[in-house]
Amino acid sequence: MEKERVIIVGSGPAGLTAALYAARAQLNPLVIAGTMIGGQVALTHEIENYPGFFSTEKTPTGPELVGIMQEQAAHFGARFVYDEVVEVDFSQGAPFTIKTYGKEYLADAVILTAGASPTHMDVPGETEYTGRGVSYCGTCDGFFFRDKDIVVIGGGDSAMEEGIFLTRFANTVQVLHRRDELRAGAVLQKRAFANEKMSFVWNTVVDEIIGNGSVTGVAVTNVKTGEKSTIKTDGVFVFIGHYPNSQFLEGKVAMDEHGYIITDELMRTNVPGVFAAGEIQDPIFRQVATSVGQGTAAAIQLERWFSEQE
Ligand code: NAP
Repeated sequence: MEKERVIIVGSGPAGLTAALYAARAQLNPLVIAGTMIGGQVALTHEIENYPGFFSTEKTPTGPELVGIMQEQAAHFGARFVYDEVVEVDFSQGAPFTIKTYGKEYLADAVILTAGASPTHMDVPGETEYTGRGVSYCGTCDGFFFRDKDIVVIGGGDSAMEEGIFLTRFANTVQVLHRRDELRAGAVLQKRAFANEKMSFVWNTVVDEIIGNGSVTGVAVTNVKTGEKSTIKTDGVFVFIGHYPNSQFLEGKVAMDEHGYIITDELMRTNVPGVFAAGEIQDPIFRQVATSVGQGTAAAIQLERWFSEQE
């Protein structure tokens, strides 16, 4: 088995930035990218808040931003494989073992940047109708809902941003939120309230997704009054948060009770030589800019760790 100097698991902004810095430090990193480059950002329509990539004429899309980041990392020598990690062995210290579906690798150091995935509501009908009216990605699926009536679940930035995006396609977008005020930031709230296609159903939770082959409605409860009703809809877009993609790391590195990897301020995990960056260790900020910063820090610290070993 060939030994890699550095393996980066994940290819979102944190992973691509760690790859850039590790490559420029002559560490010849290998990025195990998953099946698709870019993570969640690649599914985002427009990125308006990543500094340096905005103009009034042109806002970059998620895939464009990710494409530039990958090109930059590759230009300086980062290598990419499109595979998923299924198991790791950190128990003996470096070199670490990393198994993917296709291959087994050894690495002197590892940066974990596998990101996070959208949380599901876990209500009857949700799994059954995923891809048949239930979606977790407006950018991916909005096109299929031209002139349809849809609901968006959630009151955070994702729900507002995606809801606004979905008004490009849908006839109406009803936001169903479990409280009577949004969690989303002021700019997105203002934009959502001003959008004529958007309306809001407050204090409401979904009990069940209803359909006959594809979604036809949602059964809901008003949590203030207890009143139950059905809202007719062609689509249900769920944006109620995320969970970290750390299942393959259970028992291998220290995590909090939600599965987020615990790192110190130098992006170190509890295993010397294993670092983590981005949403797999950050339940708080979860921005492209913060993930990029964490990826940078992890790669710089990794290089220092190598120097200390020598
Ligand atoms: P979030 O901020 O955690 O919001 C999740 C929303 O879903 C909340 O309104 C929450 O209600 C609701 N919710 C949670 N569990 C639910 C359940 N089981 N049933 C019904 N509703 C539920 O998640 P997010 O919107 O994905 O954002 C995550 C992070 O990314 C945030 O830090 C956000 O600022 C950031 N982000 C930023 C941008 C941007 O800057 N443009 C865009 C997208 C995301 P409560 O409000 O009652 O808790």
